[in-house]
Amino acid sequence: MSDIISVLPDNIANQIAAGEVIQRPASVVKELVENSVDAGATHIDIIIKDAGKTLIQINDNGCGMSETDARLCFERHATSKIKCADDLFNLHTKGFRGEALASIVAIAHVQLRTRQANAELGTSVILEGSICKEQTPCTMEQGTSFLVKNLFFNVPARRNFLKSDNIEYSHIHEEFLRIAYVHHEIAFTLYHNDKLVYNLPPTTLKQRIVNILGNSSKERLIPVIQATNIVNVSGFIGKPEFAKKTRGLQYLFVNNRFIKHSYFHHAISSAFGEIIPATHFPTYFIYFEIDPKLIDVNIHPTKTEIKFQDEKIIYGILNATIKRAIGSFNLGGSIDFENISPIDFSTVPQKGIPQEPLITTQSGYNPFHSQKQKTTSRYDHFSSVKPSTGDDGWEKIYESIQENTPAEAIASNETTQTAMNEILNEDEGTFNEQLAVFQTLQKYIIARVKSGFIVINKEAAMERILYERYIRCLSEKPQNSQKLIFPETLKFSPQDSDIINDLLKELNNLGFDIEPFGNNTFILNGVPADLLEDNAQETIEQLLESYKNNLISLKISKKNNLAHSFARSVGKKKNKCLSEEEMQSLIGELFASEVPHTSPSGKKICITFKEIDLIRMFS
Ligand code: ADP
Ligand code: MG
Repeated sequence: MSDIISVLPDNIANQIAAGEVIQRPASVVKELVENSVDAGATHIDIIIKDAGKTLIQINDNGCGMSETDARLCFERHATSKIKCADDLFNLHTKGFRGEALASIVAIAHVQLRTRQANAELGTSVILEGSICKEQTPCTMEQGTSFLVKNLFFNVPARRNFLKSDNIEYSHIHEEFLRIAYVHHEIAFTLYHNDKLVYNLPPTTLKQRIVNILGNSSKERLIPVIQATNIVNVSGFIGKPEFAKKTRGLQYLFVNNRFIKHSYFHHAISSAFGEIIPATHFPTYFIYFEIDPKLIDVNIHPTKTEIKFQDEKIIYGILNATIKRAIGSFNLGGSIDFENISPIDFSTVPQKGIPQEPLITTQSGYNPFHSQKQKTTSRYDHFSSVKPSTGDDGWEKIYESIQENTPAEAIASNETTQTAMNEILNEDEGTFNEQLAVFQTLQKYIIARVKSGFIVINKEAAMERILYERYIRCLSEKPQNSQKLIFPETLKFSPQDSDIINDLLKELNNLGFDIEPFGNNTFILNGVPADLLEDNAQETIEQLLESYKNNLISLKISKKNNLAHSFARSVGKKKNKCLSEEEMQSLIGELFASEVPHTSPSGKKICITFKEIDLIRMFS
């Protein structure tokens, strides 16, 4: 018998470990830049040659290393970031395994130059495949500079498997962005083959995104902010027109680390619902701040997946937060986005059954909330934690409405019919002015009727009234147009221009006196009287957005679609606080409409509470 087991020498062990940590040049860039961030640098330069195959150089102005540490940092499991196992549950640095430098130096030629603030001289160390060739003092500014050359020089199989420079560089570019989108307070430059690709000054998160994506992105970002006792969510989402055909601009970060998480991705994209075409991907930059104890830290350094303890609750919070951000934006341009008050999730428990969140809404309206749900449950934000299986809900609702003729629909809703009779003064055929009405939550109108009271969803009611009005405009009686003193020139995207040209007659009937002027430009001479105050370009764009979405999701006629889309966008706009007189005339108009209890998009408009039911509830 002979012993056959031997412990591998460090350089071979490191080479094997390197295979896991360093897969391509981009992995080196990621590890080195993360170390610079951990070292407290405020300025980091990244210099790349030949997609990193020839040179990767990272210079920072961070804390630097002592003479001893400059040698020790290349040892495996050498780290300054954790000292004991408990530290693992309170990590605030990017690295902690002490593996990256040991791996890099095992498979490349490396030069390190580093100096601490209080040291007179810096240290230069040259290594080739884990073997230290030279260590000398050097003069330099405070900070650290790593030069990595000839990557995989001793692992030809790896080197041969590297992809083209274009592909390898695109990986570097992406790793760079994943760090730059988080550390907006750090200045970065990125050079590739002597060309300056990015020069990013320290700035706010929004400005960092704009600096990377270009100025045109500035107007397209909607802020997102939500604090809860499990997770703080912040960041930006792109307006619908910022949605991309390719999955590119979707960034989710947890405690400043980029992650991929398909469940949370679903929470975000399903919140966008139908406002972006099914073929497009929403843009988002979402940042989670979470107690490190609530996530699994023992993740592999190259993996971007993370495990959370409260995934379902976070899904609900995320989904509701994004819906709300979209809802606020959809109300039009008058909202001060910087001052949106977040939903109060302070009652979210750490464990157990979620309790009802206290919701403070500024606008009181979320257009996506009730489309697919008949009633609002007290656990609404959390009952939606299960990803919905598809977006055919809308179509079904619409079909069912189409199937009901108006008369039958009214008859099927007996209580509404009774309330309606009570509200309308039958003798004179006019509306009873004595009706007691008031508004609550900015969303509902409560009106007393003889047998109890009726609660009306203001926006859904508005949508119903407007829809029927617009159908009439499109079929028989065009709506009057209010002439503009100064005609406006409007410019649209080529796709929208085509649709407008196709809808010119219908838009005229709706009160838009609009004519084509060539080159995707239109002259607007008049608008519907009740929209005189509004931004016409925006109104038409919103109308088209909804129209386009309906083209994809609903099989309805052009006329129906247009009336439907216009009613929705105007309904949303006009959903302000109403005077008593306005409420009364709204109720009057609603009950004079053909289907007073359901909006054209299938939302419930009113619920009647009978006195007898109230008495029963209290007994
Ligand atoms: P980890 O980041 O997991 O600690 P690394 O192998 O990446 O492991 O780095 C080892 C150690 O080297 C770090 O813990 C840190 O103390 C030191 N170090 C690496 N890069 C820098 C840098 N740019 N500035 C200062 N110290 C650094
Ligand atoms: Mg590290």
